[in-house]
Amino acid sequence: MRARPLAEGVLLVAVCGLLACDVATGPRRQSTYPFDLAATGLVFHWPTDRLPVRVWVDPAAGPVRAYVSDGLQEWAAVFLYGEFRGVLVGDPAQADVLVEVNGATPPDVPRTNDPPVGACSGVTSNDRTPDNRLTGPFRVTLTWDGRFSATDVANCLHRVAAHELGHTIGLLQHSSSTLDLMFAFPEVASPSPTDRATVEILYHTPATLAPAARPE
Ligand SMILES: [Zn+2]
Repeated sequence: MRARPLAEGVLLVAVCGLLACDVATGPRRQSTYPFDLAATGLVFHWPTDRLPVRVWVDPAAGPVRAYVSDGLQEWAAVFLYGEFRGVLVGDPAQADVLVEVNGATPPDVPRTNDPPVGACSGVTSNDRTPDNRLTGPFRVTLTWDGRFSATDVANCLHRVAAHELGHTIGLLQHSSSTLDLMFAFPEVASPSPTDRATVEILYHTPATLAPAARPE
């Protein structure tokens, strides 16, 4: 699903996940994909003076903290010159990104290379002011489906956590290729060459959407 405005002043970055197998889109290679907020053309990325970006993960999210840590490292590794770095923090009031899980703590089991199934979903949202400043931290909410195996849930949450982090670093649209982490229903857990190329262009494009001021 594309980034779209929810209501006046509210931007819902994306809804992703459930029923990955029902998506008919096949692989379609492209060199890059759009990253602006589609409805407005606004561009967001973190300015260097806000690095490292502070990410808080609800302790009730259990293993998701480790998935988010992996995702932050994966995204940071994409950049040649340290354009993005993230760090986990313990105080949500000081965070730029808040990550929570709907419902019970997900099972903490080893991940596998099993084929992706739609055992979870994620949404990343934020609000903006009329003069195009975010009003607070990005909020990432992950939802998992207990009808799937614990392994499928772990595999899915690991992929979707990395995908949602992609939205929080400024990739506000989805790729149409299943090979990319920013495909709406991610099948891979790491940024692809196309994700890398896209985020590289993003971080060399002037931002028109500013982050929220940090709490003092
Ligand atoms: Zn998404």
